[in-house]
Amino acid sequence: MLRTDWTRAEIRALFDLPFTELVFRAAQVHRAHQAADEVQLCTLLSIKTGGCPEDCGYCSQSAHHGSGLKAEKLMDVNSVLSAAAEAKAAGSQRFCMGAAWRSPKERDMPKVVAMIEGVKAMGLETCMTLGMLDEGQARTLADAGLDYYNHNLDSSPEYYERVTSTRTYQDRLDTLENVRNAGVSVCCGGIVGMGETREDRIGFVHALATLPRHPESVTVNALVPIRGTPLGDMLADTPMARVDDIEFVRVVAAARIACPMSMIRLSAGRESMSEAAQALCFMAGANSIFTGDKLLTTGNAGDSADAALFAKLGLRAMEGDEPMRVAAE
Ligand code: SF4
Repeated sequence: MLRTDWTRAEIRALFDLPFTELVFRAAQVHRAHQAADEVQLCTLLSIKTGGCPEDCGYCSQSAHHGSGLKAEKLMDVNSVLSAAAEAKAAGSQRFCMGAAWRSPKERDMPKVVAMIEGVKAMGLETCMTLGMLDEGQARTLADAGLDYYNHNLDSSPEYYERVTSTRTYQDRLDTLENVRNAGVSVCCGGIVGMGETREDRIGFVHALATLPRHPESVTVNALVPIRGTPLGDMLADTPMARVDDIEFVRVVAAARIACPMSMIRLSAGRESMSEAAQALCFMAGANSIFTGDKLLTTGNAGDSADAALFAKLGLRAMEGDEPMRVAAE
């Protein structure tokens, strides 16, 4: 049922469908595998902000760029646990913790492990995004009980070198493999609107759909242009390069069809999307969002705006486990 042998031509054919036909097909696939009125709520906290040695062209946290963001130390465990408790009280199912690292250092691992154990003990799912992991680090996180690891492919293999120069696409694939081999579920996605072509967007969905196993969660971000970052400056100076909502929905729909049992998560960039555009994304199979008013270092829609949107659209917070994890049990 879950194909990992998609060809680029097949993904391209999805993008080439008339928009309404593509959304209709994505909605059919969504209903065949998941409850279409349920949306998963996740919360993302930056546990270590700024000063990152990587040079991702979209990121305000890179030490290479002049975004003006102040670097901070790794948060203490208690502060992370109180943020997790707040997220749970607000209805979140999953608590994601992100650190601006190339990869975690050995001295940080005991704190990271304590965060995973503490958040899990509250009955929340745990997710971390800490940069590249070797096999041993992936096993340490798995032993602590980590449910998910986020590591994005960002774009197509061809466009990747325009996004970052401090690591390769293969580095990303290697970490994803280490995470899988350690038995941790995978959250993996990318960013639309970085100046890439449609062919790159096709390549991005193709890369996700042809991983040895589809990611349990697929994040689809819209670039939030931040002044001082190369891609943010490029978009601010050439607003015409920005991807429109219809093309963004096409990416969501193609990802839904290619990865039918994955959760498709609307992530960065949702704050500036209209309610109508978000509704189209939900029709096209998106079924997970980040809640709260902050996403790492950028703004997010906020709980009250989301509650109002859910009421308008008749959506409800998902309570059960994700389909791919249920299927694996
Ligand atoms: S996206 Fe992550 S790895 Fe890249 S610069 Fe930002 S914090 Fe570092």
